[in-house]
Amino acid sequence: MVRLRPNQRWSLVILALILGSQLYCIGHAQTQSPLQSPLQSRLHPNGSTGSIGSASLIGNSTDTRSDQDISPGWPYVFDESGFHFYSLVPPKVLESQIQGVLRLPDELNQELGITLKGLNVHILVFDSRRSLDEYLHRYYPGLRAANSMYIRDQGPGLILTWFHADWLVDVRHEATHALLHAKRVSIPLWIDEGLAEYFEYPSGSSSGESFAIKSHPVHTKLIHTQLRFGQFANLEEQERWDPNKRLSNQQYRDAWGSVAFLLNHSDQSKEEFRSYVKDLLENRASGNLSYRLQQTIPDWRTAYTRYYREHSVASSIR
Ligand SMILES: [Zn+2]
Repeated sequence: MVRLRPNQRWSLVILALILGSQLYCIGHAQTQSPLQSPLQSRLHPNGSTGSIGSASLIGNSTDTRSDQDISPGWPYVFDESGFHFYSLVPPKVLESQIQGVLRLPDELNQELGITLKGLNVHILVFDSRRSLDEYLHRYYPGLRAANSMYIRDQGPGLILTWFHADWLVDVRHEATHALLHAKRVSIPLWIDEGLAEYFEYPSGSSSGESFAIKSHPVHTKLIHTQLRFGQFANLEEQERWDPNKRLSNQQYRDAWGSVAFLLNHSDQSKEEFRSYVKDLLENRASGNLSYRLQQTIPDWRTAYTRYYREHSVASSIR
């Protein structure tokens, strides 16, 4: 996740990208791929700038550059369930993976016992790492390039990514951030990243089946190695993480480890965690989770290590 400096107001950029794009609708049609739905309308058929035109965006009413000059000229724009896609990749190519993105809010709601409403997440899909890098260089100079990123500012969430083999995983990670931050509340870094890591892989469960991801293709193995050296994710230490610092790989591992443990260790630990997240999202005084867990998990280290040792065999089963 990336937090913007004041001079990087993304909201001054994103709306320009709509111009010149076609609007597709990801609906629920049974006989026709919704991603292949014909053009519904052009958002600005006359190419007028209006409130979202290029001139207003670049802050210079005399600038005569075309929209193509200030944006990649998104050929595909489609909306569904609060997700707004702006893509250089044809919808037909994305189609098999889009549902994995659209399912995410339901999975979060189900697993965390929350109700996410009023979602508004913009996802930019570039066709290559190079085109993403060029866009970053132009509009967000100074940001470190990555396969994907979530940019949080005053407006709705913005996700930048390029289409690659792990596209869905990356988008679900960033979209989890965007959904959690939709209410503009403060979320401890270990929970923010832990949940993003936890939900980055689709559950693959059929409707009605309980959502539960108990393993991660990378973190689970690393945790087992960690345990062999007598190390474990220390919750109280995680609660002191500086929200302005980038996490190390070990910290991502521990964030996932704590979240996965709490959601799957026992009904009581799951309920404590859900209750805590709910308090955070409702902006209620929540304190530290480690304090609230004193009754449920009096010895975190023992419970944590035992849980992952017991799941060493089952860890390969998602
Ligand atoms: Zn993240």
